[in-house]
Amino acid sequence: MQPTSVHHDKGFLVEPPRQTPIVREVDVLVCGGGVSGIGAALGAARAGAKTLVIERNAFLGGAATAVIMNTWNVPVSRMTGVSREVALTLAERGAGNISGPTFPFDPEAFKELSVDLLKRAGVEVLNYTSIQDAIMDGSRIKGVLIHNKSGRQAILARTVVDATGDADVAAAAGAEYVKGREKDNKMRPMSVLFRLGGVDLPKVIEYCRSQPKEYFTADPNFHILEPEKGLVRLSGFFHIAEKARAAGELPEEIHYLRFEGIDVAHGIVTVNNSRVYGVDGTNAWDISRADTEARLQNRKLHSVIRKYIPGFENAYVIDSSPTVGVRETRRIRGPYVLPQEDLAAQRTFDDSVVRIWRHMAAGVDWHKAEGGEGAPSDAVYRTSTTNLAWFELPWRVFTPNNVEGMTVGGRVLSVTHDADMWTRGQYCCLVTGQIAGIAAALAATQGITPTELDVRELQRALADQSIDVGSAADRLLAKAA
Ligand SMILES: Cc1cc2nc3c(=O)[nH]c(=O)nc-3n(C[C@H](O)[C@H](O)[C@H](O)COP(=O)(O)OP(=O)(O)OC[C@H]3O[C@@H](n4cnc5c(N)ncnc54)[C@H](O)[C@@H]3O)c2cc1C
Repeated sequence: MQPTSVHHDKGFLVEPPRQTPIVREVDVLVCGGGVSGIGAALGAARAGAKTLVIERNAFLGGAATAVIMNTWNVPVSRMTGVSREVALTLAERGAGNISGPTFPFDPEAFKELSVDLLKRAGVEVLNYTSIQDAIMDGSRIKGVLIHNKSGRQAILARTVVDATGDADVAAAAGAEYVKGREKDNKMRPMSVLFRLGGVDLPKVIEYCRSQPKEYFTADPNFHILEPEKGLVRLSGFFHIAEKARAAGELPEEIHYLRFEGIDVAHGIVTVNNSRVYGVDGTNAWDISRADTEARLQNRKLHSVIRKYIPGFENAYVIDSSPTVGVRETRRIRGPYVLPQEDLAAQRTFDDSVVRIWRHMAAGVDWHKAEGGEGAPSDAVYRTSTTNLAWFELPWRVFTPNNVEGMTVGGRVLSVTHDADMWTRGQYCCLVTGQIAGIAAALAATQGITPTELDVRELQRALADQSIDVGSAADRLLAKAA
């Protein structure tokens, strides 16, 4: 570290000008090595671009590994692009179950697979590195400033993909964005997940089968009892949560119990239950407070689960997510802002870039910003169900207003808070990342900005990488004929 002489000015430290080494120049720089960053890096490298990924954690995977969030709400037959490839390969490695309506997998295997795929595609990865700022030439992004054990450095790129989940780079570059819900900027809750081992699953299943149906979440995709297929997902236990809350054994925020990503063969269960409300994932103090609060909630949850659910008596904590899970922060504003109405109406677009399938239902919000998730008044968990349906995404939600040279993928797309409920799914983020990466590579190799791309050419490049481009496929075929 270099000593810096500074002086104070009205609450700020003023630093002297400094020289920052440029350590890489690449075609495509992917900021964030999480779910969408993996998709973006694969998309860009497979499209022929020299690609670098920067990730602040020690490992790749984002929410899939750092939050050990390991369940996708879609059957493998409906997955597209890299999502399908990832699911099939995890299943081949014995680390994921593709036999049912949802896809549970092992987060450790996801970590390993991410490295394998990126290595094979020739992507360079720099972990343990925080992106601090955008390097701009007017409204054109030219790269980013990073900080890691080697100090402050610069990376230059022809095109930059923001896959940070928080639109950190887009925001630093001056892009238009919204945070949270449009009406009040409130955001979905944060959670720390933990995994329990030593669970006697046959006993748990027997208990669940003996209980009235209304004790469990109404949606059959949340409460699955098919051990013969290796598929179990458990959600509800409303009566237990109410009893424990009344006895002061559960925090006020918890109205139901939720277990997923279940490894039936080994009796391992992921608990996705802590909920911290009123926190902002772009505020370091809030993130730290939410992490501590969620871990305190988890201690109580562990005791309650052991005490009240037959089969969990000897359950011990294997691990907890290394970082607190942030469900929502910034979303960019691009040339189009996709509302939930478009998804519900299955609107098709001339510039469609992907058709995503998933279990969904208009108006349903599984993680309301105001809380009360699973409470008696919450129809979503008590009575609502979802259907397998599809929606299209247009290319115009992948580029931010006010900044050139950038694409985005993952949960920062230009969609409304309500639409984000459906676009934030991991398999969707993997594919939107892949789209952002392919577009970035095309722009970089043609020496243009992503907004200048020929949409038909982009759609063809996406189809070449096995992405279902939805209604655009018909237009491409018509043109070819
Ligand atoms: C608690 C929780 C439960 C969820 N449950 C489900 C579920 O059941 N099913 C489902 O499909 N989806 C679920 N999701 C949603 C899904 O996991 C996310 O929406 C998805 O992972 C978002 O992908 P992303 O790439 O945009 O962000 P992330 O996966 O969060 O990846 C962003 C990456 O960027 C890195 N990064 C961020 N800022 C910087 C920076 N400044 N410098 C360097 N690196 C940076 C992060 O470390 C991270 O690795 C859940 C999410 C959470 C948090």
